Amino acid sequence: MAFAEVALNQIRALRQGAMPRNYEIWYVYATGYNADLNKAINQALALHGTLTDADLEQLHDCYLSHGRTHERIDRIGARVVSEIDDMMSLLADALGTTASFGDNLKGASHKLSLTTDREQITAIVERLVASTREMQDANNALEQRLSTSKQEITNLQANLEEIRAESLTDPLTGLGNRKHFDRVVTEAVRSAAATRLPLSLLMMDIDHFKSFNDNYGHLTGDQVLRLVGMTLKQTIKNKDIPSRYGGEEFAVVLPNTPLRQALVIADDIRRTVMSKELKKKSTGEILGRVTLSAGVSTLKPDDDADALIERADACLYSAKRNGRNRVICETDPEYRGVEPAKVA
Ligand code: GH3
Ligand code: MG
Ligand code: MG
Repeated sequence: MAFAEVALNQIRALRQGAMPRNYEIWYVYATGYNADLNKAINQALALHGTLTDADLEQLHDCYLSHGRTHERIDRIGARVVSEIDDMMSLLADALGTTASFGDNLKGASHKLSLTTDREQITAIVERLVASTREMQDANNALEQRLSTSKQEITNLQANLEEIRAESLTDPLTGLGNRKHFDRVVTEAVRSAAATRLPLSLLMMDIDHFKSFNDNYGHLTGDQVLRLVGMTLKQTIKNKDIPSRYGGEEFAVVLPNTPLRQALVIADDIRRTVMSKELKKKSTGEILGRVTLSAGVSTLKPDDDADALIERADACLYSAKRNGRNRVICETDPEYRGVEPAKVA
């Protein structure tokens, strides 16, 4: 509510439209969460004392466009379609030019076979040279246009790749998001089944995170999520793939990793997170530590991805029930197993 009020007050004070776009800008401004946005707004305010509608549009485009992926894809799609249209008419023109050049050649060859007159021959050859030049010019133009088009398509490819990467990334931690995880785990299970290499999965959940948020605020909570994300990136190796599975839950897919090794990695992560003393950036206030619980499962011959996830999740649940801040795997006596599927 406090953020909402700051946002509405700004909109009122600067006499802006109370539309969702402006509200979003001022709401995010109020949270202070997007430092670049705040910097840009503060600079514009210092310079002009207010923000025009165009400024707001640009700020939104620049700093808050995550949710506008569809629009961006639409725009790129439209450019691809128009590029293909241009290319098709270009190719049609080029085909026409080539065909008429072929006709000219044929005509010239026929005329040459009928005459021995020097002047006539010279005239025919001159026409041939002229039409060859025309053909050459047309080819050069086509080549140039194709190379521009190639550049444009390369740009579009890069734009699409950027959107694709963004759609699989969690903006808070920079880790892969849930969609990324779903793809990675499915592919890892397929590959492990094909190669018969071991595959393990870690599921982790921060302990008592709700009360951490309640005590220190959501923004500080977000900083902790970033810290855990960073710890994951730093602790694991290249082939291991971390994702933010959900709110304060993380997963790591461990290809070619047997259970025993996965347990070592999980405990390494757990201890590293626990070892960090948290300090509030703005005030220097010491916030203590956070811990996490982890569940580890390993692929069995008839498993699909869901079975693997379900067992890791059940292990995580056992870790929570047995006091938190610990790692549990399927072979531990504390492991209670997956509950039978509920009938809908
Ligand atoms: P447990 O040890 O059993 O996991 O307790 P918990 O409090 O961590 O679990 P619970 O599922 O009750 O609460 C999860 C909390 O995580 C709720 C919410 O406050 C917090 N959370 C989830 N997503 C985010 C987020 O993106 N940012 C912040 N700051 N907090 C989040
Ligand atoms: Mg949770
Ligand atoms: Mg939790």
